[in-house]
Amino acid sequence: MLKIDRGIRCGEYFTVDPTVKSNLAIVSHAHSDHLKAHREIVATAPTVELASLNYKRFEPHILNFYEKFEIGPAEIELAPAGHMLGSAQVILDLSGERIVYTGDFKFNENRTCARAEIHPCDTLLIDTTYGMPHYKFPKAEECGEMLVEFVFKNLKSGITPVILAYSFGKAQEAMEILSREDIETDVYKKIYSASKIYTKFGIDLGRFHLLEDRPVSGRAVILPPGAFRFVDSRGWGRYRTCFLSGWVVDRNRAFKNSDGFGIPLSDHASFDDIVRYVETAKPRKVYTLFGPSRIAEYLKRIGFKAEALDLKTGRSTINHSTGNLELFS
Ligand SMILES: [Zn+2]
Repeated sequence: MLKIDRGIRCGEYFTVDPTVKSNLAIVSHAHSDHLKAHREIVATAPTVELASLNYKRFEPHILNFYEKFEIGPAEIELAPAGHMLGSAQVILDLSGERIVYTGDFKFNENRTCARAEIHPCDTLLIDTTYGMPHYKFPKAEECGEMLVEFVFKNLKSGITPVILAYSFGKAQEAMEILSREDIETDVYKKIYSASKIYTKFGIDLGRFHLLEDRPVSGRAVILPPGAFRFVDSRGWGRYRTCFLSGWVVDRNRAFKNSDGFGIPLSDHASFDDIVRYVETAKPRKVYTLFGPSRIAEYLKRIGFKAEALDLKTGRSTINHSTGNLELFS
């Protein structure tokens, strides 16, 4: 009934986070790697609004957190994931079997969305993007202090602080942190549109403005990392970049987009938080999705039945022979 095949597929009824265009998709959150041009979408209200920035022609079904919804043989519930505004874990009840898909999640404080909790279950499909023990992140508060210090230090020296952060989620976390210090921001157009939606849902991001040809003096600039090379910064005067990402823990990987400074503000769980989820939820079987497959080996060592899977193919990422693995019959 449920299998991994270009998403978590429940027969012909629906697919959770399909990786291809689908008829009926349960969408965990609005990041582009979890969202395609589906015909119908079941998601939280903010996810539906954010999705409409990229896709216009889908039929939305809005689901509040912890509201139950039946499709075919499954009862579906969404629960906060702490990853970005609207982000949800998906809880499925299939004939008494409780299956939790965490989607992208984190426990570290994120004031721009609802806090994630651990949901005990029979089967757990968990985001293990940072599934290696060296992925330890400072508390959100510490990252916030580093960010504010970076901005103030540069502004004081007449240098424009340029923060590189993904358009949906990370940019707004940065803006929320800076707003507490009354720092105004000039933001890239996609960040601006998403931020308007955050504001509509009651998240205070302070005073932010659409970035014009050049930043206004005294403001911090926020750009998506991939957009920086398309921006004509010749008239900007002096500026310094800071990359906001959990990947800055891996220095070589992180710094190709910035001039050498990064803050490990992650929007995914650390290794320890992933393990804590599994140990607390006590599933009979764990499937790890995204990130290094070796975390499945680790979970086996500490007593869980675990397997690393590719969400697209359903193949085990440790042993590529399994193919469209049937999870339940
Ligand atoms: Zn995401």
